[in-house]
Amino acid sequence: MALRQIRVDGDEILRKISKKVDNIDEDIKILVEDMFETMYDADGVGLAAPQIGVLKRVIVIDIEVLKRAMINPEIIYESDTEMQDGAEGCLSVPGVEDIVRRPNVLRVRYMNLDGEIIEEEARDLYARVICHEVDHLNGILFTDKILEK
Ligand SMILES: [Zn+2]
Repeated sequence: MALRQIRVDGDEILRKISKKVDNIDEDIKILVEDMFETMYDADGVGLAAPQIGVLKRVIVIDIEVLKRAMINPEIIYESDTEMQDGAEGCLSVPGVEDIVRRPNVLRVRYMNLDGEIIEEEARDLYARVICHEVDHLNGILFTDKILEK
């Protein structure tokens, strides 16, 4: 395992669209291990591969009650009536925390490290972190979505 350098806002890689992963090979497993290590080292609850300079659709999440590595995550449903407004920060935007509106309920489909396709419902913080990390795969930062005051 190895710590990777976290890219910060201004680095153009954070604005690129990440590529789908075709199959789970040793490189992807190492990438996921390194992402967890890098995220824990930085005290984060989620990390997306482009944040360490890898343009692949891979995210990791650990919100204490659950831990996930998601390959090719897709939000296949999100509520447009049950919303949450909450404070968000990002390891790639150090020192900034602001309010972002997110769906409070969503469904996500992804591949796990065993190559199985999983569908899950997510709520509350879990839904927020998924939205934030999937945005990274599409070159979007939470600062693009801060609610107007
Ligand atoms: Zn982030």
